[in-house]
Amino acid sequence: MATRAVIHLDNLRRNIEAARKKIGPETKICMPVKADAYGHGAVPVSRFALEAGVEYLGVAGFNEGAELRNGGIKAPVLLLSQALPGELPEIIDNELTPLVSDEAFIDAAAAAADRAGKDLTVHLKVDTGLGRLGCAPEDAVNLVRRITSTKRLNLGGMATHFSASDSPLKENLDYTREQTRRFEEAVSSVRKAGIDPGIVHAANTGALSFHEEAFLNMVRPGLLLYGYSHGNGSDNAPLEVQPVMELKSVLVSIKKLKKGEAVSYGMTWTAPSDTYIGVIPTGYADGFPRGLSNNHSILIRGNAYPLTGRICMDQCMVNLGSSPEVQRWDEAVIFGPEFINAADMAAKINTIPYEILCNINKRVPREYYS
Ligand SMILES: *Cc1c(COP(=O)(O)O)cnc(C)c1O
Repeated sequence: MATRAVIHLDNLRRNIEAARKKIGPETKICMPVKADAYGHGAVPVSRFALEAGVEYLGVAGFNEGAELRNGGIKAPVLLLSQALPGELPEIIDNELTPLVSDEAFIDAAAAAADRAGKDLTVHLKVDTGLGRLGCAPEDAVNLVRRITSTKRLNLGGMATHFSASDSPLKENLDYTREQTRRFEEAVSSVRKAGIDPGIVHAANTGALSFHEEAFLNMVRPGLLLYGYSHGNGSDNAPLEVQPVMELKSVLVSIKKLKKGEAVSYGMTWTAPSDTYIGVIPTGYADGFPRGLSNNHSILIRGNAYPLTGRICMDQCMVNLGSSPEVQRWDEAVIFGPEFINAADMAAKINTIPYEILCNINKRVPREYYS
């Protein structure tokens, strides 16, 4: 295939090492590999990351966890999204670790574990200000008692998630510190009740950069390990990491257009003079956002050529100038560590690098280099 996502596992290793250096040897790393490892390929990335020193993995749904188990991965896998009661048998069978935050689901999990005749480890999720999943901090101790009073459930840990940890603005720094304080209060209420809270974890990518006080027993940085130190679109880069994904294709056709001739749907670009146009078989169906039409460049033989006209479903065009220094079948880089990256692209179309990475379509083969 012309269009491929090259996954630079050497960069992933360096990013894991950078995180490790920042958090120290005692704190564990849970690597979120949900959404097919942010588009990088869940099973190969997980295998490599575990060898590189990551201890836990995080997924959204039980099907993502089952995919890891089917891929032979034995490490603990946290289910970060709310599971459905009907999914509990598969969760138990695959030895996944659900995050729980209410009595009804704890009871359903306990009943399912009894029926299966197997123990199930759960982590209690506490909502400290994201307003998404999790119990109120003051309810933590009662829910923990409920978990530990069952026959088959074990409390493996407690977690919370931050709203604005990737921002160095004072109000956001304060908000994250307040979330951490509420979380620690919930954890200490559990300890005071004589119950071991297990592994206590909160920090996402933003917190790795800005909130050492929130590292606790384990961190859960996703974006950081994929090579972006924050998703906030600003230039501060507190941690040195390298993008892991590179999207590459091939210059499959070169043609000469005469002055005044138009390129692509809607004729949004017209040649101001006789111009060579290159065609690259990468489009929005591959995950190359159409919003970047006429607003991106592609690297061929070390030079950046501007995109001309609209990005199509399967193709896009570049302006090669009046006397092209490239050749048909040359490699074309759409984004990557040595060029415009997913954060640069995201900033132009008012989104975040997460969305660019997750949207690289399944039809794009992933190639792994270590
Ligand atoms: C996705 C996710 C993370 C990782 O977030 P990043 O911003 O990529 O570091 C951490 N914790 C939870 C609960 C998540 O859902």
